[in-house]
Amino acid sequence: MRLSQGQLNLLERCPRQFQHTYLDGFGSPTSLEQQERLSSGSRFHLLMQQQELGLPIDALVKEDAQLQGWMNAFAGAATEILTPVDGEFRESEHCRTLQVEEYLLTVIYDLFIARGDSCQILDWKTYPKPQDRRKLAQNWQTLLYQYVLAETSEYLPEQISMIYWFVQSEDKPQSLTFTYSNAQHQQIEKKLNSLLLQLSNWLQRYEIGEQFPQVVEGSKTCNYCQFVSRCDRNWEPDLAEQEYSTNKLLNLATIQEVIIQ
Ligand code: SF4
Repeated sequence: MRLSQGQLNLLERCPRQFQHTYLDGFGSPTSLEQQERLSSGSRFHLLMQQQELGLPIDALVKEDAQLQGWMNAFAGAATEILTPVDGEFRESEHCRTLQVEEYLLTVIYDLFIARGDSCQILDWKTYPKPQDRRKLAQNWQTLLYQYVLAETSEYLPEQISMIYWFVQSEDKPQSLTFTYSNAQHQQIEKKLNSLLLQLSNWLQRYEIGEQFPQVVEGSKTCNYCQFVSRCDRNWEPDLAEQEYSTNKLLNLATIQEVIIQ
């Protein structure tokens, strides 16, 4: 079974939501607003990939003022990222997999740069920089991306960092950097093994007709979940509105990777 950071986030948030989305095939309907954001995000990712490959981008930006604006702002704010250095390895949409028991953990880095004794994972976000970096630090994207790199390369955890670029931040694009360490690596390994062990147990029970666990009754998680009626949970509009505003950006980050062909 292939697992991405988005699936691990969902599994951790609510196992039943994971079941409905990935095992029952009920899908993950997104709102119009989310679809629009995803589409803008995909276009920006494609643009960055084209540029990295040295392909023309004029046709992509010509009729899209928003994309053009993001691109110009990013080029101004992160010149050093966009300028290749002699001797470095860099690749956009860099994919790695790591097998842990019966799972294939899959990560796709928007851009991977290895320079001498350090390397960087870069990720583009087309939403504003979050106020609270702790949520992103705990998000499986940050955890899994660095973990898989340390496990599948010669780089020591201390030589790895992950940088998120938020192209839609107020004045100009802003970044958040997360460094990595051996201690973090050990902690993530423990957390990952424990989550995968739980998943294996739930999958075994699912095969004999048992459902994955739900979050506790009254949990705020249900307030922004599309399966409230299927789960017979109460939906509180006021709370839902608050929760949606707080979580929509991070929830977007849990949606499956955009794979650019
Ligand atoms: S409604 Fe609540 S319990 Fe049901 S899948 Fe959604 S978050 Fe989980």
